[in-house]
Amino acid sequence: MLANQWHMMHTNMNATKCLNPKCQSKAKVRGLCSACYVRANEVIKKGLTTWKTLEATKRILPPQRKKTSTVKWLLGRAI
Ligand SMILES: [Zn+2]
Repeated sequence: MLANQWHMMHTNMNATKCLNPKCQSKAKVRGLCSACYVRANEVIKKGLTTWKTLEATKRILPPQRKKTSTVKWLLGRAI
């Protein structure tokens, strides 16, 4: 029971930590915490990189389709 709980907590923590190894915040958007995501937005706006480059170099995660499917599900017909 306890070991199982620890395992769940541990895996969950790993999954939600910001991809930036120097950052200990929780990931919120595309594997980044909100602060790192803002930074990413800034460098992209400056033209220093693109979302695709960041994705290819594993700085960010690919866009999640989860959200859209949840919205679709929410707005869909009753089962
Ligand atoms: Zn971060």
